[in-house]
Amino acid sequence: MNPVVWTNIAYLGASVCFIIGLRMLSSPATARKGNLLSATGMLIAIVLTLISKDIVTYKWIAIAILIGTVIGFFTARLVAMTRMPEMVAIFNGFGGISSLLVGWSVYHMMRDQGAFTAFTIYLSVLIGGLTFTGSMVAFIKLSDTWKAISKAVLYKGQQIVNGALLVATVWICVLYTMNSAAHYPLFLVAVVLSLVLGVLVVIPIGGADMPVVISLLNSYSGLAACAAGFVIKNNILIVAGALVGASGMVLTNIMCKAMNRSLANVLFSGFGSVTTSKKGGGGIQGEVSPINVADAYLILEAARSVLIVPGYGLAVAQAQHVVRELGELLEENGCEVKYGIHPVAGRMPGHMNVLLAEANVPYDELVEPDEINPTMETVDVCIVVGANDVVNPAARDDESSPIYGMPIVEVDRARTVFVLKRSMASGFAGIDNPLFFKDNTRMLFGDAKSSISGLVAEFKGG
Ligand code: NDP
Repeated sequence: MNPVVWTNIAYLGASVCFIIGLRMLSSPATARKGNLLSATGMLIAIVLTLISKDIVTYKWIAIAILIGTVIGFFTARLVAMTRMPEMVAIFNGFGGISSLLVGWSVYHMMRDQGAFTAFTIYLSVLIGGLTFTGSMVAFIKLSDTWKAISKAVLYKGQQIVNGALLVATVWICVLYTMNSAAHYPLFLVAVVLSLVLGVLVVIPIGGADMPVVISLLNSYSGLAACAAGFVIKNNILIVAGALVGASGMVLTNIMCKAMNRSLANVLFSGFGSVTTSKKGGGGIQGEVSPINVADAYLILEAARSVLIVPGYGLAVAQAQHVVRELGELLEENGCEVKYGIHPVAGRMPGHMNVLLAEANVPYDELVEPDEINPTMETVDVCIVVGANDVVNPAARDDESSPIYGMPIVEVDRARTVFVLKRSMASGFAGIDNPLFFKDNTRMLFGDAKSSISGLVAEFKGG
């Protein structure tokens, strides 16, 4: 049989691995195997591409694989779990720049392109460049290193500038597609425009809207790869890119629902540009009621139902293992324990699920806000472990709040709430949290891991 047919049959096998693997990722019970299956599909795809394409020299490919493997191995081992979201943002960006470079290099290999090839080259450059710089801005925003752009950056006429750039890209696309050989200068303008657009599209987004941007950029990196697949006529790249693009769009939709906002609203409303007190609590009148570990233990000891609500602070404190231990001790004490997982808790989609899975928390104890909120009045104690924005009642009660309308885990409706955090500081969105001042809230100040370890010690000693 023709080798091309064999190659495409094997590509088909790799695509099936991707699709089944992706399907298996939708349940924590099968996620590990799904990941392995997808990775096997990718290995097949890479090996096959290397032997079936007209590779001029393997030397540079080998060097790149070596450098990439070393960097990938050490970053995966050394990067702290709290820095994982930034790493994901960088990876999205690398996917984007690869597609841009593929498109650009093919332009030089095929000066005289047909309209379809020219169009796909243009798309791979445009989406790739936009994804690259957009992801770098997202990286900076997530790492909170450059305060000036951590929040939404807005300026007068922003929509007009962005709109004009968009019109320019479409106009260049038409001219370039009609006659690619004659329009290299325009092509270069498109490269620059794509990089500028990435920055300008992401800087107005900030605060609690960041999860949407992360998943959207993830989707773009897939679409860019898909376009690059058309450029070099590689079926597996087209399929893999389309899968990433489509699943990223589904995730974006889930994140929008978690924020109760439309995509257009997220992209154009400029969340987080409001000035709020970073120290938290500044705009709210009232007193907080602190509690110590010994008193918290006495209340927990008598509790019949407990809801543990983790947030970003759980990742910072690396408290997942002691949280699971506390959960087990509570259950041994005859208490029903559930974990309330908000879709945007933490700093990346699924952040809390990953942490709790690592600590072997049973999947059937994880509940989403929709499921737990209707029965919240029957919960004796909610233990909020390093969560802030996702339990902020202002999202439900205060129409002037920037997060108004975002569904939350309504812990304030439980009989008693323990909030475990180190200070009165605000969360990622930078807004005050009235939960801390409620009559049924007790603040257990300190690092979450040491507070929970203290409770565990009380249970063991009690
Ligand atoms: P938040 O960022 O709102 O709050 C985290 C809280 O953890 C802080 O108030 C902090 O208070 C506390 N904390 C930090 N370290 C510790 C520690 N060692 N021990 C105890 N507490 C600690 O987290 P949430 O999970 O509630 O909300 C996530 C936010 O991030 C949302 O606004 C979401 O939109 C956004 N986001 C989410 C992404 C995603 O994909 N999930 C991506 C990007 C942004 P203190 O300093 O006082 O201890």
